Amino acid sequence: MSLEILGCRLDPIDADEATERILGFMRERTGAQIVTLGTEMVVYAQRDEAFRRIVNACALSLCDTVGLLLVARRRGAQLAERVTGVELIEHLARRAAGEELSVYLLGGAEGAAADAAAVLEARFPGLRIAGVRNGYFAPEESAQIAAEIRASGAALLLAGLGSPRQERWLAEFLAATGAGAGIGVGGSFDVIGGRAERAPVIWRRLGVEWLYRLVKEPQRWRRQLALPYFVWLIALDTLGLRPKKERTVS
Ligand code: UDP
Repeated sequence: MSLEILGCRLDPIDADEATERILGFMRERTGAQIVTLGTEMVVYAQRDEAFRRIVNACALSLCDTVGLLLVARRRGAQLAERVTGVELIEHLARRAAGEELSVYLLGGAEGAAADAAAVLEARFPGLRIAGVRNGYFAPEESAQIAAEIRASGAALLLAGLGSPRQERWLAEFLAATGAGAGIGVGGSFDVIGGRAERAPVIWRRLGVEWLYRLVKEPQRWRRQLALPYFVWLIALDTLGLRPKKERTVS
């Protein structure tokens, strides 16, 4: 059962269930787009209707942040933890390694996807990497990149182009890539390949990974204003003081 949070669909399922569903898309070559929904994305979707439509048209919208997890739980979802891009990639790589399902990594600075692919191959023997490519390309190159992914035969496309670019790119080009599933994974390649440091476990357990990132990368403060704004919007929504966004889930 999906929930709706400020006009955005959220499927409150855990990483295991999401993995099973995505493996199904990969095997059947469904061409399913998956979004790991974050609080900032929901805030952004308030002012970008086209982006909201893309999110709501996804085959799965997974809960990537603590803010969304708390709201989902208040609305009755039985979800123990959020599902991060990194965790999802690890689950999928473990399972895909046992089958003929290859993975393409698109995104990050030059070398980031290749580093992440090498780490995944070492950790999950038998995993087939269909290809890698950095995420800094001109819009005119997109069709050619999609054709290259198609030629690679990838069953899964991981797009780490940052949001909202990765969601838009997948909405436009996933079908052309021929991949069974495409997931927007943000900066996950940097984390897996060891280029970006993740917050220590204690910060993550306390749900304050965002604070750790703010301390480490103070230039993120502008993006993080989305968090208090999200709380404000949810409060208005709960009190019935906010007009409901037209729901665009099909
Ligand atoms: N990125 C990219 N192409 C771009 C802009 C960003 O490949 O045009 C990559 C960037 O190198 C980083 C990721 O997208 O690996 C986004 O990281 P960010 O921390 O912004 O995303 P988040 O994990 O917060 O969604």
